[in-house]
Amino acid sequence: MIFLATSNAHKVEEIKRLLPGIELAPRPSWVPEVVEDGDSFEENSIKKARAISLATSQPAISDDSGLEVDALDGSPGVKSARYAGENASDEGNVWKLLGELEGVSNRSARFVCVATYFMPDQSFRTFRGDVEGWLLDHVTGNGGFGYDPIFVPFEGDGRSFAEMSMDEKAQYSHRSRAFEGLRNYLDATREV
Ligand code: IMP
Repeated sequence: MIFLATSNAHKVEEIKRLLPGIELAPRPSWVPEVVEDGDSFEENSIKKARAISLATSQPAISDDSGLEVDALDGSPGVKSARYAGENASDEGNVWKLLGELEGVSNRSARFVCVATYFMPDQSFRTFRGDVEGWLLDHVTGNGGFGYDPIFVPFEGDGRSFAEMSMDEKAQYSHRSRAFEGLRNYLDATREV
C-alpha cells in the first residue's frame, strides 16, 4: 500500500490511471496538508511525500505541478494553484492569466510535473515530466481542470487539454511523463 499526498480529486484520478495495479490510498484526513512554500516543483513534491510517509510509516507518492509561461518569465510556476489569490478557483486563475497575456504575442508555455516516491527509511526518488505548448486567448472545452481550457500541446492536433479525454491527455501530459519514470522505477525495484 502506498499513500498519495494529493487531495485534488482530478489529480488522484489521473494518477490512479497512470499507476495501474498499484494499491494507492488517499492522504489520510488526519495528516495535515503541507504548506507548499518551496521555490521549485522538486522541493514541494518531496516535502509533500515526506510528510505523508513520516506520518503513516508507509511509502508515499506525491506530485507537484504547474504551468510555466515564457512571456511571464516562468510564472505562475510553483504558484499555479494560487495565482489569483490564496483560495483561488481554477476559473479565477485562468482569467487572471488571460488578462496578463492580453495583447502578448509570445504564447509559449509548458506544464511541469515532479513526482516523488518517498520510502519509510527516508530515501526518495524524484521524476520530472513536461509538455510544451501554447496558450489560447479564450477558454475552450469542458474536461480536465486548472489551465487545461487554455493549453494546447504542440504535439497534439490543435485541441486544448480540456477538449481531450483523460486517455488522450495522458498521451502528452507532464503528469504521465513523470509517472512513467516512477512506474518504471517501481517495476525495476519490485517495491510493490
Ligand atoms: P499543485 O497541486 O501544487 O501541484 O498545483 C498544481 C496547479 O497547477 C493546479 O492547481 C493547476 O492550476 C495547475 N496544473 C497542474 N497540472 C495541471 C494540468 O494537468 N492541467 C491543468 N492545470 C494544471
